[in-house]
Amino acid sequence: MIKVSFMGVGSAFSRKNSTSSILVESGSIKMLVDCGTPVIKSIQDFGLSFKDITHIFVTHLHADHIGGLEFLALECRFHLKHRPKIVSTASLLKRLWNFSLKGGLEYVEATFGDATPQTLNDYFECVSIQAEEWFRISTEDPIQLFAHASDHVLGMESYSLEFSEDPHIKEKTILFTGDTRLDPKLLEHARDNCQHVLHDCQLFDSGENNKFGVHTSYQQLLKLPPEIRQCLWLYHYGDTPLPDAKNDGFLGFIEHHQSFTTS
Ligand SMILES: [Zn+2]
Repeated sequence: MIKVSFMGVGSAFSRKNSTSSILVESGSIKMLVDCGTPVIKSIQDFGLSFKDITHIFVTHLHADHIGGLEFLALECRFHLKHRPKIVSTASLLKRLWNFSLKGGLEYVEATFGDATPQTLNDYFECVSIQAEEWFRISTEDPIQLFAHASDHVLGMESYSLEFSEDPHIKEKTILFTGDTRLDPKLLEHARDNCQHVLHDCQLFDSGENNKFGVHTSYQQLLKLPPEIRQCLWLYHYGDTPLPDAKNDGFLGFIEHHQSFTTS
């Protein structure tokens, strides 16, 4: 069985609901997917220590998805003596280090003489996966990951993440869209192959028909056929009042710390 718990359901600017992040549990695996700064507190509020986290998957490099990683890395290394696995494509992990984490983590020790530069591998065990194919992250646990390239920001590498204990069985498979613009093909795939579809949702249009939006807007989702809408749970929303998603044919807005399980 896979259990998914939301460590945050808010947008990048949410003050109420943490930034969007999930914890995926299967067998001995506890995998955090994304770690914005507020997620650090949310993990603690959920009753977990960083030491409990075995894997961290990074969907893309926006701060609301990686802003807490530097703190987590330091806490794990120096206080907890814990080195979780960090999972994504090789190119994304390289950029994560070179453009986001290296500035604060490359030199960390009070040394006399030559300072030793640290690498991402000194804090995390790096696990590179191939996008667009199923990948097993543990020989002991059946869970597999499939990183779908997402259409979020032009030129930026980003992923929606599907995970399953058996990709041939819908009741054992979940999709977390990460940050993405509307992707009808992905939604049709999810309707046919996933028990739970957890979809990002911006509450406003950016330009006419969300032309300038980098997320999927609620208004765009409202135009989807009913058989797609009735599969969708929504997250990544701002602090303004929420529309009545259930009345509009969706499963609803996901609440902070809400959990989902496969059959
Ligand atoms: Zn983003």
